[in-house]
Amino acid sequence: MTKIKLAVAAGSYCGGCDMSIVDLNELLIPIDEAIELQYWQLAADFKIKNVKALKDNEIDITLYHGPIRTSEHAELAHLFRKKSKVLIAYGACSCFGGIPQLANPFTASELLDEAYAHGYNMDDSGPNHMRTSSEYKKGRKMTLPKLLDSCMPLSAEVDVDYYVPGCPPVRDQWLVLIDIITNFIKNGELPPKGTVVAGDKARCEECGREKPDEIVINKFFRPYEINPDPKICLLAQGLICMGPATRAGCGNQCTGDANMPCRGCFGPAPEVDNPGLKMLSAIASIAGAKKEDELGEAGLKKLVDQVVDPFGTFYRFAVPQILMHLKQKKAKEEKSDSTK
Ligand code: SF4
Ligand code: SF4
Ligand code: SF4
Repeated sequence: MTKIKLAVAAGSYCGGCDMSIVDLNELLIPIDEAIELQYWQLAADFKIKNVKALKDNEIDITLYHGPIRTSEHAELAHLFRKKSKVLIAYGACSCFGGIPQLANPFTASELLDEAYAHGYNMDDSGPNHMRTSSEYKKGRKMTLPKLLDSCMPLSAEVDVDYYVPGCPPVRDQWLVLIDIITNFIKNGELPPKGTVVAGDKARCEECGREKPDEIVINKFFRPYEINPDPKICLLAQGLICMGPATRAGCGNQCTGDANMPCRGCFGPAPEVDNPGLKMLSAIASIAGAKKEDELGEAGLKKLVDQVVDPFGTFYRFAVPQILMHLKQKKAKEEKSDSTK
């Protein structure tokens, strides 16, 4: 039997996406015999020079996790795109930018100053060179990849075939992925380009918690501040839950037994262009509802100020992808207007 050539490559990753594959255990058995691993740093000491030596499209499927944060990640993305028939963005970071995109309000030099002000200095001779202060004094140079000014999803750099969101992705998605891989091995068939391996509705629709007809919030809580009722909608209990604006498919990882609000790691729900905005408008309509007169402007402001870190809460995973999507949508609309 011809084996399928598989690679797992990574940008600025945390290791969680790797572990989500290791955790599959027995699920991998049906495809184990049919796979020839070409690259996966977690599994063995694979070398990039060997990947470079492969013919174009010689790898059948590459899973790329982590976002593009440095020049090296961008180079890897182009290399694996060139060498792979199918490139899959695996995990929230690769699909949308993920947690590392929270640093995007700051430039690369601001981040370097913040992280290394006391240990490292930028070298004047070029952005790719940094020296530790002791190395600096000795006049020796360390060459590191250039930290790019923004952290971006894989699709900002190269053409992506499929998306597997989640931080990290879960077993249910792997059941679908294994079907895709098995079908590809047996019949050479693949799903339509752009397929998102996740649900096709919003998280609230798969949640199962009781949602009151009318939600009124008089106090917002952070998850550690209350022990919420496990049957009632968390948003209705004053916890910011991103469920209304997030794509389904995780199988209630947080809002189920964990009794925690959704943070939005599956990315925007279908038809939701801007999840943060959707949540902000939903929350604005329920915060202090029916008590506006009693609270007054100052009281309402005090209530809304209880939402700590609005950017990190409402836009935790996907700002670069949201902006790319809105830009593409605008360009499409302008093109369609010009042809009328
Ligand atoms: S998606 Fe989550 S688990 Fe995967 S690399 Fe990013 S932060 Fe880590
Ligand atoms: S807001 Fe959260 S807790 Fe409420 S129904 Fe939606 S996903 Fe469930
Ligand atoms: S509940 Fe939300 S944050 Fe938790 S795994 Fe599901 S999509 Fe991600």
